Amino acid sequence: MSRTPPIGKDDATMLDAPRTKEAAAKYRYRRWGGNPAGTKYDPERCAYEVWEKGRGCLSYQCLRKKGYGPDGLYCKVHARKFKEP
Ligand SMILES: [Zn+2]
Repeated sequence: MSRTPPIGKDDATMLDAPRTKEAAAKYRYRRWGGNPAGTKYDPERCAYEVWEKGRGCLSYQCLRKKGYGPDGLYCKVHARKFKEP
């Protein structure tokens, strides 16, 4: 099975997700013991931080195109996490 797993209920929720361009620019991805400074935000991509399945503490910035959600910072899929009930 090589298909990409869909984003489901087991997808880790980003807790302090940035809602403005300024907050996203300060956000660092893939922060862990061996890389405390993390990885800089790429303004061309969705600002959501995604955790690698099965590797626990490793994360990366979502690879999808942005344009949805708060300040247009997120992809279509992750923008759903910001929907007001
Ligand atoms: Zn995304």
